Amino acid sequence: MSEEKKNPPIKVYGDRILRQKCEEVVFPREDLAQVAASMFLIMYGYNGIGLAANQAGLTDKIAVVNVSPTKSEDEQITLINPVVTWVEGEQNDILEGCLSIPGIWEKRKRPMSCTVDNYDFEGNKHTFTTTGLEARAVLHEIDHLNGELFIDGLPSVQKAMLEGKLKKISRWAKKNKLR
Ligand SMILES: [Zn+2]
Repeated sequence: MSEEKKNPPIKVYGDRILRQKCEEVVFPREDLAQVAASMFLIMYGYNGIGLAANQAGLTDKIAVVNVSPTKSEDEQITLINPVVTWVEGEQNDILEGCLSIPGIWEKRKRPMSCTVDNYDFEGNKHTFTTTGLEARAVLHEIDHLNGELFIDGLPSVQKAMLEGKLKKISRWAKKNKLR
């Protein structure tokens, strides 16, 4: 955990905001495009593929995802008040990590595909279905918006083995004012 402190720093494990359910966005809201754009910037700054509002210290139900290696703008997904309506299949044996839990990578079971009800900046509802890594990232971010972390979904033995490391991260975060 020697990584430099970036600006603005992402909230790290142990910060209570990561356990808070984010609040539904109420339309109309003039600043949504701006909020999303700044969240994409923060995420790219950390080389992440997803970021939820509470990780950036905000409490709106907004998250951003871009799993394309080139960070192509066409691949950007902004999640606003997202609700998972359908999941299908299973993907295993893929290491999952989180910008708020630095240094921890664990195999986490996830559905292969998901369908999500989502809203655009104007408050229009859209439904989309995604699969593979993008589905994994979308589900990970929606968990964040509901106050959940990816480690919550690990089998208890796997979780127990992480306890020491998580305590260390939490202490490190406190010392470095990242929570
Ligand atoms: Zn995360």
